[in-house]
Amino acid sequence: MTANIINGKEIAKDVRREVKEAVEERVATGKSVPGLATVLVGSDPASGMYVKMKQRACNKAGINAFHIDLPADTSQEELEAKVAELNADENVHGILVQLPLPDGLDEERVLQAIDVNKDVDGFHPLNIGRLAQKGRTPVFMPATPAGCIELLKRTGVELEGANAVVLGRSNIVGMPVALMLVEHNATVTICHSRTKDLKGLIQTADVLVCAVGRPEMVKGDWIKPGAVVIDVATVKVDAPELEKGYKWVGDVAFDEAMEVASAITPVPGGVGPMTIAILLQNTLKAAQLAD
Ligand code: NAP
Repeated sequence: MTANIINGKEIAKDVRREVKEAVEERVATGKSVPGLATVLVGSDPASGMYVKMKQRACNKAGINAFHIDLPADTSQEELEAKVAELNADENVHGILVQLPLPDGLDEERVLQAIDVNKDVDGFHPLNIGRLAQKGRTPVFMPATPAGCIELLKRTGVELEGANAVVLGRSNIVGMPVALMLVEHNATVTICHSRTKDLKGLIQTADVLVCAVGRPEMVKGDWIKPGAVVIDVATVKVDAPELEKGYKWVGDVAFDEAMEVASAITPVPGGVGPMTIAILLQNTLKAAQLAD
């Protein structure tokens, strides 16, 4: 068997086009231009790059991008005051505080300060809490996990009754994606660093979502024949055979998995592009909520 590649780049492009069209349509009927405010505290280069990518994507989709740069020594009170200001700004429909925050700032308090109807990152405790409760709907879902689900849906993967295994239980990927899979009526096993018989559990998965960050830890013979594999991890590893000297890999040994799975996301070009696409979708939704 050779697996189909789930092309996250193309699917993300479709989502971004849909958002752009919906933005154009609403603006043409006199409604507000959706606005996303990004807040960056400190000067971490990776965080700075992510924020720039998000701003660029907003511009392309016709969404207003507002950016607030704060110094690394910003106090908790100053940061929360900025969030309060953005909560009150009617041109700002979505607020994204780039994580991680510098040491000394209380991430949970900051996330809690964001208006739940502007929480386009989906990390407000109320949104996550609703995700964990049957029959409750969060206003927003976190972008990367929602991106995984969107990839599965748009590939036509049947989740109802499927055995799903999620590798990783972080707040930003593993746990929310597991909750979303439950919401889609999959039977979900969550694995983490203390799990015994990881291989045996993974072998039961019709749908496998990996979010650990350990290069190629999941081998081909861990995968159930015909399984669908979503690899969230993105890890830079040395590749002396390449001119640039490095490459990006996921948690899954891709070439081996290609021989066993029915469909798999590549790294890069799988889940990665979906995160920003879903963020744009969430920002559009935030503007619609404010209409
Ligand atoms: P994280 O917070 O470090 O969480 C890693 C999880 O993996 C933890 O739950 C940990 O278990 C588990 N784990 C660690 N070693 C393990 C092992 N040997 N066996 C089984 N489980 C193990 O990471 P994260 O933030 O969720 O990110 C995971 C990966 O996804 C990273 O490569 C990251 O770069 C990538 N990522 C990609 C995107 C995107 O594409 N847009 C977004 C976010 C993250 P414990 O809980 O027991 O410690």
